Formats: sequence, C-alpha cells, structure tokens
Amino acid sequence: MVSNEDQVKILLMNKSKPEITKRQQQLLNELKKCNDELSGQELHRQLHNGEKIMGLTTVYRNLQALVKQGLIRSRHLPNGEVLYAPVERDIHHLTCVSCGETTQLKGCPVKTLNMPEKTSKKFELLFHTLEYFGLCQNCSQELNTG
Ligand SMILES: [Zn+2]
Ligand SMILES: [Zn+2]
Repeated sequence: MVSNEDQVKILLMNKSKPEITKRQQQLLNELKKCNDELSGQELHRQLHNGEKIMGLTTVYRNLQALVKQGLIRSRHLPNGEVLYAPVERDIHHLTCVSCGETTQLKGCPVKTLNMPEKTSKKFELLFHTLEYFGLCQNCSQELNTG
C-alpha cells in the first residue's frame, strides 16, 4: 500500500519539470525559507524588503498557480485568512476558536489513510488538510470562571 505522502512524492517525480515563473520561484523560496506558514499578505510584506516589488494581487495569483502545480499547500483559517506552506510540509494544527491560538500536531493522522481506489484513478492528489478546532487552556478556564 502506498501512503498519501508517497503518492504525492510519486506524482511529483513523474511530472516533467513544472514550469514556474521567476515570481513563483521567488514565492516558493520565501515559503521554504520560513519555518512557519505564511499568508499572502506576509509574503507580500517580506518581498517588499527585497529588490523586486510584487503587488498583492500578483502575489495571490502566483500563489494560486503554485497550489495548482502541487508545489505549495493552502490552509483556510476560520477568520478567512489563507496560509501557505511548501507541499512537502505535512503539518496539522489545533486551533482555538476563541483566541485563534494554534498548536502544531506531532505527526500526521491522515498519512495512514488510503485514498479510495475509485477516486485515486480520476483524481490527482496534491495535498490534504486537516484541522482541529476547540478551546485552548486559557479560553476554557475563562469560560468556566466567567
Ligand atoms: Zn484560546
Ligand atoms: Zn497530513
């Protein structure tokens, strides 16, 4: 059995070199440099410190192109913000619905799940997301005492 992560690797290997533009490469480099996920705005800000200035719309358009090519993953937060990370980084989070604090999970619970065979033939899997929502220690204490 091939795990989801292996499937992603195989897909990436089978693909002929994806053609990405200089701007997309620039964004990909920023995401790889950073240990954390970055939003489009954060990327936009970081690139502003460099020489080549990219407009926010251009940043988002190129991020979308990178997602489609299976090079980066996107994660939607409850507040509408989207965070991006290199696709090979398989990290999941516990998010507090009250204060928004996030904690990284160790390991990936999805990794051991296999795609149903019927789907896997018609569907090219690029990445998955998995979110846990709840109340952090601080917020649940506040709720209980207040
Ligand atoms: Zn909280
Ligand atoms: Zn995962």
